[in-house]
Amino acid sequence: MSRQRILVLGTGGTIAGSGSGATGATYRPGGLALQSLVAHLDALGLDAELVSEEIARIGSQDMGFAEWQALHAACLRGIADPGVAGVIITHGTDTAEETGILLDLTLPTTKPIVLVGAMRPADAVGADGMRNFANGVKVAGDPQAAGRGVMLVMGDAVLAARDARKAATSSIDAFRSFPRGALARVTPASLDWFAPPHRMGESARYPFPGELPRVAILTAGAGMDEKPVEALLGIGAQGIVLAGMGQGNAPACVIAALARAAARGVPVVRATRVDEGLVDRNVEVDDDALGLVAARALGPAKARMVLMVLLASGITDARHVQAAFDAG
Ligand code: GLU
Repeated sequence: MSRQRILVLGTGGTIAGSGSGATGATYRPGGLALQSLVAHLDALGLDAELVSEEIARIGSQDMGFAEWQALHAACLRGIADPGVAGVIITHGTDTAEETGILLDLTLPTTKPIVLVGAMRPADAVGADGMRNFANGVKVAGDPQAAGRGVMLVMGDAVLAARDARKAATSSIDAFRSFPRGALARVTPASLDWFAPPHRMGESARYPFPGELPRVAILTAGAGMDEKPVEALLGIGAQGIVLAGMGQGNAPACVIAALARAAARGVPVVRATRVDEGLVDRNVEVDDDALGLVAARALGPAKARMVLMVLLASGITDARHVQAAFDAG
């Protein structure tokens, strides 16, 4: 049997980071060209043919519309190519959540799309990128990986993009999966799925946005007033995500200002600044009366991406926005 062909889309990040030497601290994410990275991988003797395409060579803190648009288009080409089994995107970990959920919402699920990152630069002692990549090849080449949406492979685990969350700044075990656990355990030699594919239907849930609406995240703090909400409306925010306290709370004057924003047609989603946990409707804040939306399991970074996609699709009223968040 011929080896499976995997399309590798490079964007930079620590997995392609270099410049620290084996033990240094300072490095440049994306310092290594994708070609060199793939050449290292070829030397691992992986059972796959890697076809590479460099989209960007940046730290993922600089990801934006142009890179996402290029990634989305390249993924669609890979999905349409009968010779391609799956797609791997090498990506910085800082915004892997954002790219992951954006592509998850806007791509079909017929072939595996796998984000792979690293916490240690490619030239550092104990670099984790090569192993994560080898694991990614195992996932992207497995027909059973289709129908699960976009996935993130880090630390020998396969996480659904909708559940993955960066929870540590430097440890190689940096990602958590919430509210559902990992989809699978993976090593370069084994892959064990814990459940059958969960995504109903094969088509993309939303069209890829023609442009990204301005959606801001406002972090709540004790003693704050409503001025930041007014400032966001003043710069033309089309949606606001509250990174609230606890179950999406904020001082009464802030909640009142957010309700006024919602009444003016600027959707407001209440998420939490807490690391983990649900934000449900009508717990301490009367969402029904105030026209607000509860983010449920999505943290602020992912909630912002979802709200951008919804607004770009013309979905603006609180009931429909809530339905999209309820759908996970
Ligand atoms: N800030 C960089 C990025 O997200 C490096 C962090 C990483 O990749 O882990 O691309």
